[in-house]
Amino acid sequence: MNIYKPSNPWRSFVTSNTRITSPGSPDDIRHITLDISKSGMNCIEGQSIGVIVPGVDEEGNRHRVRLYSVSSPREGETSQESISLTIKRVFFTDEITGQIKKGVASNYICDLQPGQEIYITGPVGRSFILPEDNESDIIMIAVGTGIAPFRAFIHHMYKDKKKWAGQVLLFFGAKSGLESLYMNDQNNDIGQYYTIETFKAFQALSGDKKYVQHQLRDNIEVIWDLMKRDNFSLYICGLKGVEAGITEVFNGIAVGQGLSWPDLLNRYKTEKRWHIEVY
Ligand SMILES: Cc1cc2nc3c(=O)[nH]c(=O)nc-3n(C[C@H](O)[C@H](O)[C@H](O)COP(=O)(O)OP(=O)(O)OC[C@H]3O[C@@H](n4cnc5c(N)ncnc54)[C@H](O)[C@@H]3O)c2cc1C
Repeated sequence: MNIYKPSNPWRSFVTSNTRITSPGSPDDIRHITLDISKSGMNCIEGQSIGVIVPGVDEEGNRHRVRLYSVSSPREGETSQESISLTIKRVFFTDEITGQIKKGVASNYICDLQPGQEIYITGPVGRSFILPEDNESDIIMIAVGTGIAPFRAFIHHMYKDKKKWAGQVLLFFGAKSGLESLYMNDQNNDIGQYYTIETFKAFQALSGDKKYVQHQLRDNIEVIWDLMKRDNFSLYICGLKGVEAGITEVFNGIAVGQGLSWPDLLNRYKTEKRWHIEVY
């Protein structure tokens, strides 16, 4: 846990950098693997690592560390010597000048080629972690790159014929099928688990006017069936804006059952069964 700090980062190397959004998508989202051999890092699903961009910002200060969820399971991407990240190349509009600007760290990382060095910190994160009991029922809700920690969860649960015994539901929101990360023609490594009876993935495509909260609403009964159970845990990951619409659905579910949502949410949080990572 957090063995590499910004003052003593680990010098890693990029081993691959592959676009996982289909050709034709305006979004450039990449699956990037890093060599962490000899670092002593053990990244658990749900943890993040920090990336240090070389050089200084516009004020002459060292760039602040940016965090990225590890998208490989604790077993590693190909072996324990490698981890993967899932990174969107960010462009944003400068509020003062109205100019389109490039996100500093995401563009730096997305441009790295295999063999190039990258300084990383961490791993960090104690709370966005799977329960130890493999009979736990899990709901994961992701939008965009929020899928990264869930790819790690799902590989850990099912890779090498290991079977998670609990029920697992994944709800994933993307703009279109071109951005259905790890579930499209470019890369379908979550799709390989669709035959597992206890695992079900739902996709909501906003281009079809279907958002992840609509997909949740369409499945209220199966969701409530899990929410009632004592070993249920929920995870939400993605951009900050997603949380409000999702919480509204859960509020509606509780009210429909004659329950107080604040009380129920409070119980889940106290029992460490409600996990949110938004950025
Ligand atoms: C715990 C944690 C885990 C994260 N995991 C991931 C991950 O798995 N994959 C990933 O791509 N990012 C992830 N992020 C976000 C990441 O840390 C950076 O914030 C992001 O890459 C933008 O950094 P940048 O240096 O490119 O942009 P900056 O130069 O810092 O510019 C930031 C600007 O871009 C906007 N912005 C930030 N992110 C986005 C976005 N995704 N889309 C559109 N606009 C955006 C901001 O509002 C701001 O205006 C995570 C953040 C946290 C805190």
